[in-house]
Amino acid sequence: MQETARPYDLVIVGASFAGLVAARTAAMRGLSVAVLDAKPEAGHRVATTGVLVKEAADEIDIPHTLTRRVHGVRLYAPSRRSIDLFAPGSFFLTTDTANVLRWLANEAMRAGAKILYRARFEGASREAGVFRFHGLNIAARYILGADGARSAVARAFGLGRNTRFLTGIEVEYEGLTRADPRFLHCFLDSKLAPGYLGWVAAGPSVTQAGLAVGPGRRPDLKRFLAATEPVFGYSEARAVERRSGRIPAGGLVSPWSTDGVMLVGDAAGQVSPATGGGIKLAFELGRRSAQLIADHLQDLGAPPPVALAPELPAFAAKKLMRTALDMAPPNPLIDLALALPPMRWLAQHVYFHRRGGKGLSFAEFEAKLMRNGAAETRPQPTLSPGA
Ligand SMILES: Cc1cc2nc3c(=O)[nH]c(=O)nc-3n(C[C@H](O)[C@H](O)[C@H](O)COP(=O)(O)OP(=O)(O)OC[C@H]3O[C@@H](n4cnc5c(N)ncnc54)[C@H](O)[C@@H]3O)c2cc1C
Repeated sequence: MQETARPYDLVIVGASFAGLVAARTAAMRGLSVAVLDAKPEAGHRVATTGVLVKEAADEIDIPHTLTRRVHGVRLYAPSRRSIDLFAPGSFFLTTDTANVLRWLANEAMRAGAKILYRARFEGASREAGVFRFHGLNIAARYILGADGARSAVARAFGLGRNTRFLTGIEVEYEGLTRADPRFLHCFLDSKLAPGYLGWVAAGPSVTQAGLAVGPGRRPDLKRFLAATEPVFGYSEARAVERRSGRIPAGGLVSPWSTDGVMLVGDAAGQVSPATGGGIKLAFELGRRSAQLIADHLQDLGAPPPVALAPELPAFAAKKLMRTALDMAPPNPLIDLALALPPMRWLAQHVYFHRRGGKGLSFAEFEAKLMRNGAAETRPQPTLSPGA
Protein backbone atom coordinates (compact mmCIF):
# COMPACT_ATOMS: atom_id res chain seq x y z
CA MET A 1 0.00 0.00 0.00
CA GLN A 2 1.19 3.53 -0.81
CA GLU A 3 2.72 5.61 2.02
CA THR A 4 0.46 8.32 3.39
CA ALA A 5 3.30 10.79 2.72
CA ARG A 6 2.59 10.41 -1.02
CA PRO A 7 -1.12 10.86 -1.66
CA TYR A 8 -2.82 9.47 -4.73
CA ASP A 9 -4.20 12.14 -7.03
CA LEU A 10 -7.53 10.34 -6.97
CA VAL A 11 -9.01 7.67 -4.74
CA ILE A 12 -12.22 6.14 -6.04
CA VAL A 13 -14.48 4.31 -3.61
CA GLY A 14 -16.31 1.45 -5.37
CA ALA A 15 -14.91 -0.93 -8.00
CA SER A 16 -18.03 -1.39 -10.10
CA PHE A 17 -19.34 0.13 -13.35
CA ALA A 18 -18.83 3.82 -12.48
CA GLY A 19 -15.67 3.46 -10.39
CA LEU A 20 -13.76 1.16 -12.74
CA VAL A 21 -14.51 3.22 -15.85
CA ALA A 22 -13.50 6.37 -13.97
CA ALA A 23 -10.30 4.69 -12.76
CA ARG A 24 -9.30 3.62 -16.25
CA THR A 25 -9.88 7.11 -17.67
CA ALA A 26 -8.10 8.93 -14.85
CA ALA A 27 -5.11 6.57 -15.00
CA MET A 28 -4.95 6.87 -18.80
CA ARG A 29 -4.75 10.64 -18.33
CA GLY A 30 -1.78 10.30 -16.02
CA LEU A 31 -3.32 10.60 -12.56
CA SER A 32 -2.14 8.26 -9.83
CA VAL A 33 -5.32 6.36 -8.96
CA ALA A 34 -6.38 3.87 -6.30
CA VAL A 35 -9.79 2.18 -6.17
CA LEU A 36 -11.11 0.83 -2.86
CA ASP A 37 -13.76 -1.85 -2.64
CA ALA A 38 -15.11 -3.74 0.33
CA LYS A 39 -15.52 -6.87 -1.83
CA PRO A 40 -12.85 -9.59 -1.98
CA GLU A 41 -12.59 -9.39 -5.81
CA ALA A 42 -14.16 -7.89 -8.92
CA GLY A 43 -17.42 -9.53 -9.96
CA HIS A 44 -18.07 -10.96 -6.48
CA ARG A 45 -21.79 -11.20 -5.62
CA VAL A 46 -23.13 -9.22 -8.53
CA ALA A 47 -26.37 -7.43 -7.64
CA THR A 48 -27.66 -6.40 -11.06
CA THR A 49 -29.31 -7.99 -14.08
CA GLY A 50 -26.58 -6.26 -16.05
CA VAL A 51 -28.49 -5.60 -19.27
CA LEU A 52 -26.81 -2.87 -21.31
CA VAL A 53 -28.82 -0.52 -23.47
CA LYS A 54 -27.24 0.31 -26.82
CA GLU A 55 -26.09 3.70 -25.54
CA ALA A 56 -24.08 1.94 -22.80
CA ALA A 57 -22.53 -0.38 -25.37
CA ASP A 58 -21.65 2.69 -27.45
CA GLU A 59 -20.00 4.34 -24.44
CA ILE A 60 -17.67 1.46 -23.53
CA ASP A 61 -16.73 -1.29 -25.97
CA ILE A 62 -17.16 -4.59 -24.12
CA PRO A 63 -15.70 -7.83 -25.58
CA HIS A 64 -18.51 -9.51 -27.50
CA THR A 65 -17.71 -12.89 -25.91
CA LEU A 66 -19.11 -11.51 -22.61
CA THR A 67 -22.44 -10.45 -24.05
CA ARG A 68 -25.47 -11.64 -25.98
CA ARG A 69 -27.21 -9.35 -28.44
CA VAL A 70 -30.99 -9.12 -28.05
CA HIS A 71 -33.01 -7.20 -30.61
CA GLY A 72 -36.56 -7.48 -29.35
CA VAL A 73 -38.66 -6.75 -26.28
CA ARG A 74 -41.71 -8.94 -25.73
CA LEU A 75 -43.99 -6.94 -23.47
CA TYR A 76 -46.67 -8.98 -21.68
CA ALA A 77 -49.91 -7.52 -20.35
CA PRO A 78 -51.41 -9.00 -17.15
CA SER A 79 -53.65 -11.15 -19.40
CA ARG A 80 -50.35 -12.58 -20.84
CA ARG A 81 -51.14 -11.22 -24.27
CA SER A 82 -47.92 -9.76 -25.60
CA ILE A 83 -46.60 -7.27 -28.13
CA ASP A 84 -43.16 -7.42 -29.74
CA LEU A 85 -41.11 -4.24 -29.91
CA PHE A 86 -37.90 -3.65 -31.85
CA ALA A 87 -36.12 -0.90 -33.77
CA PRO A 88 -33.63 -1.43 -36.59
CA GLY A 89 -30.19 -0.23 -35.50
CA SER A 90 -30.97 -0.80 -31.83
CA PHE A 91 -30.31 -3.67 -29.44
CA PHE A 92 -29.70 -4.66 -25.83
CA LEU A 93 -26.77 -6.67 -24.56
CA THR A 94 -27.36 -9.21 -21.86
CA THR A 95 -24.06 -9.85 -20.12
CA ASP A 96 -21.96 -12.28 -18.20
CA THR A 97 -21.88 -9.49 -15.64
CA ALA A 98 -19.29 -10.91 -13.24
CA ASN A 99 -16.83 -11.32 -16.08
CA VAL A 100 -17.65 -7.87 -17.48
CA LEU A 101 -16.69 -6.43 -14.09
CA ARG A 102 -13.48 -8.51 -14.03
CA TRP A 103 -12.67 -7.25 -17.51
CA LEU A 104 -13.32 -3.62 -16.47
CA ALA A 105 -11.06 -4.13 -13.44
CA ASN A 106 -8.29 -5.52 -15.65
CA GLU A 107 -8.66 -2.58 -18.03
CA ALA A 108 -8.35 -0.12 -15.13
CA MET A 109 -5.24 -1.90 -13.83
CA ARG A 110 -3.72 -2.10 -17.31
CA ALA A 111 -4.10 1.68 -17.50
CA GLY A 112 -2.15 1.97 -14.22
CA ALA A 113 -4.85 2.17 -11.52
CA LYS A 114 -4.33 0.20 -8.33
CA ILE A 115 -7.35 -1.69 -6.99
CA LEU A 116 -7.50 -2.51 -3.30
CA TYR A 117 -10.07 -5.18 -2.41
CA ARG A 118 -11.32 -5.89 1.12
CA ALA A 119 -10.75 -2.17 1.69
CA ARG A 120 -13.94 -0.70 3.14
CA PHE A 121 -14.23 3.09 3.18
CA GLU A 122 -15.09 4.21 6.70
CA GLY A 123 -14.42 7.93 6.47
CA ALA A 124 -11.61 10.34 5.72
CA SER A 125 -10.40 13.63 7.18
CA ARG A 126 -8.77 16.47 5.34
CA GLU A 127 -5.49 17.96 6.50
CA ALA A 128 -3.63 20.58 4.47
CA GLY A 129 -5.62 19.79 1.31
CA VAL A 130 -5.06 16.02 1.53
CA PHE A 131 -7.66 13.41 2.55
CA ARG A 132 -6.42 10.70 4.92
CA PHE A 133 -8.56 7.56 4.97
CA HIS A 134 -9.60 6.19 8.36
CA GLY A 135 -8.21 2.71 9.01
CA LEU A 136 -6.41 2.57 5.65
CA ASN A 137 -2.89 3.75 5.10
CA ILE A 138 -3.70 5.90 2.10
CA ALA A 139 -4.29 9.52 1.22
CA ALA A 140 -5.74 11.38 -1.75
CA ARG A 141 -6.01 14.84 -3.29
CA TYR A 142 -9.50 14.06 -4.63
CA ILE A 143 -12.18 11.48 -3.74
CA LEU A 144 -14.77 10.07 -6.14
CA GLY A 145 -17.58 8.23 -4.37
CA ALA A 146 -18.75 5.46 -6.70
CA ASP A 147 -19.93 3.26 -3.86
CA GLY A 148 -23.50 2.59 -4.86
CA ALA A 149 -27.03 3.30 -3.70
CA ARG A 150 -26.20 3.55 0.00
CA SER A 151 -22.98 5.50 -0.36
CA ALA A 152 -20.69 5.66 2.67
CA VAL A 153 -18.84 8.56 0.99
CA ALA A 154 -22.10 10.55 0.85
CA ARG A 155 -22.67 9.81 4.53
CA ALA A 156 -19.11 10.67 5.60
CA PHE A 157 -19.12 14.06 3.86
CA GLY A 158 -22.71 15.05 4.63
CA LEU A 159 -23.80 14.83 0.98
CA GLY A 160 -27.29 14.00 -0.31
CA ARG A 161 -28.47 10.39 0.06
CA ASN A 162 -30.84 8.26 -1.97
CA THR A 163 -34.13 7.89 -0.14
CA ARG A 164 -36.50 6.33 -2.71
CA PHE A 165 -35.73 2.88 -4.08
CA LEU A 166 -37.05 0.15 -6.30
CA THR A 167 -36.30 -3.28 -4.88
CA GLY A 168 -35.21 -5.97 -7.30
CA ILE A 169 -34.69 -9.70 -6.94
CA GLU A 170 -33.91 -12.36 -9.50
CA VAL A 171 -32.79 -15.93 -9.94
CA GLU A 172 -30.37 -17.30 -12.53
CA TYR A 173 -31.23 -20.51 -14.36
CA GLU A 174 -29.20 -22.95 -16.38
CA GLY A 175 -31.10 -24.89 -19.04
CA LEU A 176 -34.15 -22.61 -19.24
CA THR A 177 -34.77 -23.56 -22.85
CA ARG A 178 -38.28 -22.13 -23.21
CA ALA A 179 -37.20 -18.48 -22.88
CA ASP A 180 -36.92 -17.23 -26.46
CA PRO A 181 -33.45 -15.58 -26.41
CA ARG A 182 -34.32 -13.12 -29.17
CA PHE A 183 -36.36 -11.07 -26.69
CA LEU A 184 -36.16 -9.43 -23.30
CA HIS A 185 -39.42 -10.69 -21.82
CA CYS A 186 -41.01 -7.95 -19.72
CA PHE A 187 -44.17 -8.30 -17.65
CA LEU A 188 -46.41 -5.39 -16.75
CA ASP A 189 -48.63 -6.51 -13.89
CA SER A 190 -49.65 -4.38 -10.93
CA LYS A 191 -50.39 -7.42 -8.76
CA LEU A 192 -47.10 -9.23 -9.42
CA ALA A 193 -44.76 -6.25 -9.84
CA PRO A 194 -46.47 -3.07 -8.59
CA GLY A 195 -44.54 0.03 -9.61
CA TYR A 196 -42.17 -1.65 -12.03
CA LEU A 197 -42.06 -4.95 -13.94
CA GLY A 198 -40.98 -8.55 -14.10
CA TRP A 199 -38.45 -9.87 -16.62
CA VAL A 200 -36.88 -12.95 -18.12
CA ALA A 201 -33.66 -12.41 -20.07
CA ALA A 202 -31.34 -14.95 -21.65
CA GLY A 203 -27.72 -14.03 -21.02
CA PRO A 204 -24.61 -15.50 -22.64
CA SER A 205 -24.50 -18.39 -20.16
CA VAL A 206 -27.56 -18.28 -17.86
CA THR A 207 -31.12 -16.95 -18.02
CA GLN A 208 -32.27 -14.43 -15.43
CA ALA A 209 -35.85 -14.22 -14.18
CA GLY A 210 -36.89 -11.61 -11.67
CA LEU A 211 -38.88 -8.57 -10.78
CA ALA A 212 -38.59 -5.18 -9.16
CA VAL A 213 -41.26 -3.25 -7.31
CA GLY A 214 -41.79 0.41 -6.53
CA PRO A 215 -40.88 2.29 -3.34
CA GLY A 216 -42.40 0.91 -0.14
CA ARG A 217 -43.26 -2.51 -1.65
CA ARG A 218 -41.69 -5.95 -1.31
CA PRO A 219 -41.02 -8.14 -4.34
CA ASP A 220 -42.60 -11.60 -4.24
CA LEU A 221 -40.33 -13.64 -6.50
CA LYS A 222 -42.06 -16.94 -5.76
CA ARG A 223 -45.39 -15.55 -6.89
CA PHE A 224 -43.90 -14.09 -10.08
CA LEU A 225 -42.22 -17.39 -10.95
CA ALA A 226 -45.40 -19.36 -10.25
CA ALA A 227 -47.43 -17.03 -12.45
CA THR A 228 -45.01 -17.24 -15.39
CA GLU A 229 -44.09 -20.95 -15.00
CA PRO A 230 -46.52 -21.94 -17.82
CA VAL A 231 -44.62 -19.65 -20.23
CA PHE A 232 -41.03 -20.55 -19.29
CA GLY A 233 -41.03 -23.87 -17.41
CA TYR A 234 -38.57 -22.94 -14.64
CA SER A 235 -39.26 -26.29 -12.97
CA GLU A 236 -37.44 -28.01 -15.86
CA ALA A 237 -34.34 -25.81 -15.35
CA ARG A 238 -31.70 -25.52 -12.62
CA ALA A 239 -31.56 -22.42 -10.38
CA VAL A 240 -27.89 -21.57 -9.85
CA GLU A 241 -27.80 -18.17 -8.16
CA ARG A 242 -29.88 -15.34 -6.74
CA ARG A 243 -29.27 -11.63 -7.03
CA SER A 244 -31.02 -8.76 -5.29
CA GLY A 245 -30.54 -5.10 -4.58
CA ARG A 246 -31.98 -1.65 -4.32
CA ILE A 247 -32.22 0.75 -7.24
CA PRO A 248 -32.33 4.50 -6.55
CA ALA A 249 -35.56 5.92 -7.98
CA GLY A 250 -35.65 9.50 -6.71
CA GLY A 251 -33.33 11.17 -9.22
CA LEU A 252 -30.10 13.03 -8.42
CA VAL A 253 -29.16 13.46 -4.79
CA SER A 254 -28.41 16.96 -3.54
CA PRO A 255 -25.75 18.05 -2.90
CA TRP A 256 -23.64 15.52 -4.82
CA SER A 257 -20.28 17.19 -4.20
CA THR A 258 -18.26 19.18 -1.74
CA ASP A 259 -14.75 20.59 -1.91
CA GLY A 260 -12.49 17.77 -3.17
CA VAL A 261 -15.24 15.10 -3.14
CA MET A 262 -17.76 14.09 -5.78
CA LEU A 263 -20.33 11.31 -6.13
CA VAL A 264 -21.04 9.36 -9.30
CA GLY A 265 -23.30 6.50 -10.44
CA ASP A 266 -25.88 5.10 -8.03
CA ALA A 267 -24.22 7.02 -5.17
CA ALA A 268 -25.31 10.25 -6.88
CA GLY A 269 -28.77 8.90 -7.84
CA GLN A 270 -27.74 8.85 -11.51
CA VAL A 271 -30.28 6.17 -12.41
CA SER A 272 -33.32 6.51 -14.64
CA PRO A 273 -36.27 6.84 -12.21
CA ALA A 274 -38.56 5.24 -14.81
CA THR A 275 -36.58 2.23 -16.05
CA GLY A 276 -34.13 1.70 -13.15
CA GLY A 277 -31.28 1.54 -15.69
CA GLY A 278 -28.05 2.88 -14.24
CA ILE A 279 -25.15 1.24 -16.07
CA LYS A 280 -25.24 3.56 -19.07
CA LEU A 281 -25.05 6.63 -16.81
CA ALA A 282 -22.39 4.96 -14.63
CA PHE A 283 -20.25 4.45 -17.75
CA GLU A 284 -20.89 7.91 -19.19
CA LEU A 285 -20.62 9.98 -16.02
CA GLY A 286 -17.86 7.81 -14.51
CA ARG A 287 -15.74 8.58 -17.52
CA ARG A 288 -16.68 12.29 -17.63
CA SER A 289 -16.07 12.75 -13.89
CA ALA A 290 -12.57 11.31 -14.27
CA GLN A 291 -11.81 13.53 -17.25
CA LEU A 292 -12.92 16.64 -15.35
CA ILE A 293 -10.99 15.68 -12.22
CA ALA A 294 -7.89 15.23 -14.40
CA ASP A 295 -8.48 18.62 -16.06
CA HIS A 296 -8.82 20.20 -12.63
CA LEU A 297 -5.78 18.58 -11.00
CA GLN A 298 -3.45 18.68 -14.00
CA ASP A 299 -4.45 21.89 -15.80
CA LEU A 300 -6.25 24.03 -13.21
CA GLY A 301 -9.55 23.36 -14.97
CA ALA A 302 -12.87 24.35 -13.38
CA PRO A 303 -13.92 22.50 -10.23
CA PRO A 304 -15.25 19.14 -11.56
CA PRO A 305 -18.79 19.50 -10.16
CA VAL A 306 -19.15 22.94 -11.78
CA ALA A 307 -18.03 21.54 -15.13
CA LEU A 308 -20.19 18.40 -14.84
CA ALA A 309 -23.45 20.01 -13.63
CA PRO A 310 -24.69 21.15 -17.07
CA GLU A 311 -24.17 17.63 -18.44
CA LEU A 312 -26.31 15.86 -15.84
CA PRO A 313 -29.74 14.51 -16.81
CA ALA A 314 -32.72 16.29 -15.23
CA PHE A 315 -34.98 13.19 -15.46
CA ALA A 316 -38.08 15.43 -15.64
CA ALA A 317 -40.12 13.14 -17.95
CA LYS A 318 -38.82 10.01 -16.23
CA LYS A 319 -39.85 11.31 -12.81
CA LEU A 320 -43.37 11.87 -14.18
CA MET A 321 -43.36 8.31 -15.48
CA ARG A 322 -42.20 7.07 -12.07
CA THR A 323 -45.16 8.82 -10.44
CA ALA A 324 -47.51 7.07 -12.88
CA LEU A 325 -45.84 3.68 -12.23
CA ASP A 326 -45.98 4.19 -8.45
CA MET A 327 -49.76 4.43 -8.73
CA ALA A 328 -49.75 0.81 -10.00
CA PRO A 329 -52.74 1.10 -12.35
CA PRO A 330 -55.28 -1.74 -12.11
CA ASN A 331 -54.51 -4.74 -14.33
CA PRO A 332 -57.63 -4.45 -16.54
CA LEU A 333 -56.52 -0.91 -17.41
CA ILE A 334 -53.04 -2.15 -18.38
CA ASP A 335 -54.61 -4.91 -20.50
CA LEU A 336 -56.70 -2.31 -22.30
CA ALA A 337 -53.91 0.24 -22.67
CA LEU A 338 -51.43 -2.23 -24.16
CA ALA A 339 -53.88 -2.99 -26.94
CA LEU A 340 -53.97 0.70 -27.96
CA PRO A 341 -51.52 2.45 -30.33
CA PRO A 342 -50.55 5.33 -27.96
CA MET A 343 -49.36 2.86 -25.31
CA ARG A 344 -47.41 0.89 -27.91
CA TRP A 345 -45.83 4.16 -29.05
CA LEU A 346 -44.88 4.98 -25.45
CA ALA A 347 -43.44 1.50 -24.84
CA GLN A 348 -41.47 1.72 -28.08
CA HIS A 349 -39.98 5.03 -26.94
CA VAL A 350 -39.21 3.85 -23.41
CA TYR A 351 -37.32 0.81 -24.70
CA PHE A 352 -35.83 2.10 -27.93
CA HIS A 353 -36.17 5.93 -27.96
CA ARG A 354 -37.16 5.60 -31.59
CA ARG A 355 -39.66 4.22 -34.09
CA GLY A 356 -40.11 0.54 -34.77
CA GLY A 357 -39.46 -1.17 -38.05
CA LYS A 358 -41.74 0.86 -40.35
CA GLY A 359 -44.17 -1.84 -41.48
CA LEU A 360 -41.77 -4.72 -40.72
CA SER A 361 -42.82 -7.54 -38.42
CA PHE A 362 -40.16 -8.88 -36.04
CA ALA A 363 -39.93 -12.05 -38.16
CA GLU A 364 -39.26 -10.01 -41.30
CA PHE A 365 -36.71 -7.89 -39.45
CA GLU A 366 -34.91 -11.05 -38.31
CA ALA A 367 -35.03 -12.59 -41.78
CA LYS A 368 -33.38 -9.43 -43.14
CA LEU A 369 -30.70 -9.61 -40.44
CA MET A 370 -30.05 -13.24 -41.35
CA ARG A 371 -29.71 -12.42 -45.03
CA ASN A 372 -27.10 -9.83 -44.01
CA GLY A 373 -25.20 -12.52 -42.06
CA ALA A 374 -25.54 -10.63 -38.77
CA ALA A 375 -23.39 -11.81 -35.87
CA GLU A 376 -26.33 -12.74 -33.64
CA THR A 377 -27.50 -15.33 -36.15
CA ARG A 378 -24.19 -17.17 -35.73
CA PRO A 379 -23.78 -19.56 -32.78
CA GLN A 380 -23.07 -17.71 -29.53
CA PRO A 381 -19.67 -18.42 -27.96
CA THR A 382 -19.73 -20.54 -24.83
CA LEU A 383 -17.93 -18.98 -21.89
CA SER A 384 -15.72 -20.79 -19.50
CA PRO A 385 -16.00 -19.54 -15.91
CA GLY A 386 -13.47 -16.82 -15.13
CA ALA A 387 -12.75 -16.25 -18.85
C1 LIG B 1 -31.73 -6.21 -9.17
C2 LIG B 1 -31.15 -5.09 -10.01
C3 LIG B 1 -31.18 -5.19 -11.40
C4 LIG B 1 -30.64 -4.16 -12.18
N1 LIG B 1 -30.62 -4.30 -13.54
C5 LIG B 1 -30.07 -3.35 -14.32
C6 LIG B 1 -29.94 -3.54 -15.72
O1 LIG B 1 -30.31 -4.60 -16.25
N2 LIG B 1 -29.40 -2.55 -16.47
C7 LIG B 1 -28.97 -1.36 -15.91
O2 LIG B 1 -28.49 -0.46 -16.64
N3 LIG B 1 -29.04 -1.16 -14.57
C8 LIG B 1 -29.56 -2.13 -13.77
N4 LIG B 1 -29.60 -1.97 -12.40
C9 LIG B 1 -28.99 -0.76 -11.85
C10 LIG B 1 -27.46 -0.91 -11.92
O3 LIG B 1 -27.07 -2.15 -11.40
C11 LIG B 1 -26.75 0.21 -11.15
O4 LIG B 1 -27.24 1.44 -11.62
C12 LIG B 1 -25.24 0.12 -11.34
O5 LIG B 1 -24.76 -1.08 -10.78
C13 LIG B 1 -24.58 1.33 -10.68
O6 LIG B 1 -23.19 1.17 -10.75
P1 LIG B 1 -22.26 1.89 -9.68
O7 LIG B 1 -20.87 1.62 -10.13
O8 LIG B 1 -22.69 3.30 -9.50
O9 LIG B 1 -22.57 1.19 -8.27
P2 LIG B 1 -22.61 -0.33 -7.84
O10 LIG B 1 -22.66 -1.23 -9.00
O11 LIG B 1 -23.68 -0.42 -6.81
O12 LIG B 1 -21.20 -0.56 -7.12
C14 LIG B 1 -20.85 0.03 -5.91
C15 LIG B 1 -19.53 -0.59 -5.43
O13 LIG B 1 -19.11 0.07 -4.24
C16 LIG B 1 -18.67 -0.89 -3.31
N5 LIG B 1 -18.85 -0.32 -1.96
C17 LIG B 1 -20.01 0.01 -1.35
N6 LIG B 1 -19.78 0.54 -0.15
C18 LIG B 1 -18.42 0.56 0.01
C19 LIG B 1 -17.54 0.99 1.05
N7 LIG B 1 -18.00 1.56 2.18
N8 LIG B 1 -16.21 0.85 0.88
C20 LIG B 1 -15.70 0.28 -0.26
N9 LIG B 1 -16.50 -0.14 -1.27
C21 LIG B 1 -17.83 -0.01 -1.15
C22 LIG B 1 -19.53 -2.11 -3.58
O14 LIG B 1 -18.90 -3.30 -3.10
C23 LIG B 1 -19.67 -2.08 -5.10
O15 LIG B 1 -18.64 -2.81 -5.73
C24 LIG B 1 -30.10 -3.00 -11.59
C25 LIG B 1 -30.04 -2.90 -10.18
C26 LIG B 1 -30.54 -3.95 -9.41
C27 LIG B 1 -30.46 -3.84 -7.92
